[in-house]
Amino acid sequence: MILGDRYRAARSAATDRLMTRRLLTAALLAITLLGFAVPAGADDRDFQFLSFIHSDITSEFSNDWGAGRSGGRGHKGNDVFSPKGTPVLAAADGFVEKLGNGPRSGFYVKLRHADGFDTWYMHLDNDTPGTDDAKGGSERAYAEGIEEGDFVEAGQIIGYVGDSGNAEYTTPHTHFELHRDGRAINPHDYLEGAMTRWLRVESLADELA
Ligand SMILES: [Zn+2]
Repeated sequence: MILGDRYRAARSAATDRLMTRRLLTAALLAITLLGFAVPAGADDRDFQFLSFIHSDITSEFSNDWGAGRSGGRGHKGNDVFSPKGTPVLAAADGFVEKLGNGPRSGFYVKLRHADGFDTWYMHLDNDTPGTDDAKGGSERAYAEGIEEGDFVEAGQIIGYVGDSGNAEYTTPHTHFELHRDGRAINPHDYLEGAMTRWLRVESLADELA
């Protein structure tokens, strides 16, 4: 079955909502053409993290965008710290564009989302469990069975936290990048928003317990 069909089968429930949104968009356009004012500043192409990127509510991260790196490079993302082996989750629905391994990035996953957004997850786990031997291979890095071209839902496990690439022998973390139309942008507000919403759901769970 071609990818598009698989995607449509998996997301059929979302279709009605999408159609509603398209009708609303068409209605707004009609209103604009009729000369009525439309609220300014609304951008329905803005990215929404539907999931935090680690399954660890105590994950630590800071606004380390632009911080100095070797060779005069600036930091093009945010580092999110969790124990080695913590599941790494897709921030939003999308497709697996690339499963790769580079000298700096180590094992990484690149997801393509709607509206020109990509998310990159680097330094995935490369160790045999309980060691720091860098001999775990790709089966430690990626979620079982995941392949380029796969559709993944927000919150789906795509890999595991590690220290591969130039993070070897540092504290395990995911170097996370958000790209819009091919350019890296600071993901900090998005990460913080996703974590804040998650914490609110957790406190609701406590309330209801
Ligand atoms: Zn980093």
